[in-house]
Amino acid sequence: MDKTIGIFGGGQLGRMMAQAALPLNIQCTFLEASTDCPSAQLGQVIVNQDANAITQFIASADVFSLEFENTPLAEVDALLQQKNLFPPRQALAIAQNRLLEKALFDQLDIPVAPYRAVDSLESLEQAAQALGLPLVLKTTTGGYDGKGQFVLRTATEIPEAWAELGPAGSLIAESFVNFSREVSIIAVRGQNGDVKTWPLAENHHHHGILSHSIVPAPNSAALQPVAQEYITRLLQHLDYVGVLTLELFVTEQGLFANEMAPRVHNSGHWSIEGAECSQFENHIRAVAGLPLGSTAVIRPTVMVNIIGQYPKTEAILALDGAHLHLYNKTERVGRKIGHITLMPQDAAQLTTLCQALATILPEPLALSSDMQIEL
Ligand code: AMP
Repeated sequence: MDKTIGIFGGGQLGRMMAQAALPLNIQCTFLEASTDCPSAQLGQVIVNQDANAITQFIASADVFSLEFENTPLAEVDALLQQKNLFPPRQALAIAQNRLLEKALFDQLDIPVAPYRAVDSLESLEQAAQALGLPLVLKTTTGGYDGKGQFVLRTATEIPEAWAELGPAGSLIAESFVNFSREVSIIAVRGQNGDVKTWPLAENHHHHGILSHSIVPAPNSAALQPVAQEYITRLLQHLDYVGVLTLELFVTEQGLFANEMAPRVHNSGHWSIEGAECSQFENHIRAVAGLPLGSTAVIRPTVMVNIIGQYPKTEAILALDGAHLHLYNKTERVGRKIGHITLMPQDAAQLTTLCQALATILPEPLALSSDMQIEL
């Protein structure tokens, strides 16, 4: 093996990073709570059970990365005394705190919905006055997939919202954005400063979890350069190395940034088959200090998450133009356990594939059979 990359976390993102690393003779190791995790088949898992584990993890690899954005900064600091981590610590620290993240977007002239910090019932009342209703109240740290959020529609709900989220500590109140759709842009920056960007993904959610992404996002020719400019500002400002994701709302006033993820992202899974070089391979290349690969699209794709229950493998593989990725996770309601990439030859085939999938997938998705895709 030429190099070993240690990854904080051993979930499906780590698994797919390691799958991309192997052909390059790069081995991955993982720091995870249990050896029963999706990455375990791909490399050594160091069980994070005591102080000794972090020492063992630091010794296990040459250079480090992460697949879990809430990686504790104390563990990162212990690592940084001896070895390098990509992405940089400051990107991680900012992405872990919605207030710091919004302040950075402001500083870089990346539009965001108006917001206020909230730390008391009074400050929530003031925020509701200043921002107007509806607003979205979120925990500043620790939230994901819509957890730790309260949509406040009327002033009478203020005490309830405070009772629910107040104990969580610091909060942020954001104006409710009337978006027409949600998109994300993913980019990678190499150690030499090279930046490459994949096309925008249009993201659809079901019960707060990503259900499917369409790439390239339809009608996004005018949005792409703007999103690309925003993410490039972030990458350069943070002296970033690796893959970064920026989630955006499309509104009548243009793009508004929602949040960034300092890692490979679910809305980029399509790139394994759909792009010349996937988000996983380019992330590994960046972390290893190798040249980046082309982010050009091979064919437009639709990525569909498998949530909660596995479909029959045979049924998916019988679909022409479908690729199946299973994460070796046990079934649980609301859990992402795999994904399917559809690469239709034309719009008619996409309709057929979506209709077939809607009958095969155990969890009914908001998959429309007249989905638009620019082929
Ligand atoms: P987040 O955890 O910030 O990604 O939020 C989860 C989801 O909540 C987003 O994908 C949006 O659908 C919705 N959301 C978050 N913030 C806002 C907002 N300010 N206005 C409207 N919807 C929002």
